[in-house]
Amino acid sequence: MPELVFFSGTMDCGKSTLALQIEHNRSARGLVGMIFTRNDRAGAGKLSSRLGLVTDAVEVTDGMDLYAHLVDHLSQGGRADYVIADEAQFLAPEQIDQLARVVDDLELDVYAFGITTDFRTKLFPGSQRLVELADRVEVLQVEALCWCGARATHNARTVGGVMVVEGAQVVVGDVTDSAEEIGYEVLCRRHHRRRMTAATARAAALAPDVLPVPRS
Ligand SMILES: [Zn+2]
Repeated sequence: MPELVFFSGTMDCGKSTLALQIEHNRSARGLVGMIFTRNDRAGAGKLSSRLGLVTDAVEVTDGMDLYAHLVDHLSQGGRADYVIADEAQFLAPEQIDQLARVVDDLELDVYAFGITTDFRTKLFPGSQRLVELADRVEVLQVEALCWCGARATHNARTVGGVMVVEGAQVVVGDVTDSAEEIGYEVLCRRHHRRRMTAATARAAALAPDVLPVPRS
């Protein structure tokens, strides 16, 4: 039975690497995938991993019908044996419904990869819809670690080096002013709640008024 599988996790948990691995394994067996992505770090129409691997993909745009795209592709003699949707947190909920229809009506496996929650710890709408519709949710446990060494389960956003918990869910475009520069860091829940990034933890450890606490 074809399935809609949601591979979810934090940033840096190896989602895109696994997406590329699935693509590689299937193409080695002669299968052809339709690969969708959105806002990949390597640019439009690319699926890339932090390890440096990259492949071509179809860039999803606002209002694009993913089911219709596949039907058009197949009716024009194109081939698709399975579907990968990377950066699925950026897809609209209705586009996730279209992917479910691809599974049910075209009988193709769909592997969706996405970040579950944003820097405010709120679900991305695309990820929420995947949790609602997927046949299976796989939480990726590739060890993304907080600076304290605990498993990183939450995404933090920094603006000019300071952790923030308010702002737009998705920020598009580069900011050149370093005081406004947006960064991301994965943290354990404890340090996300305390707003403690690696930099603030380091600063606290170096502060002269903080005396080391003797261990008893
Ligand atoms: Zn931590």
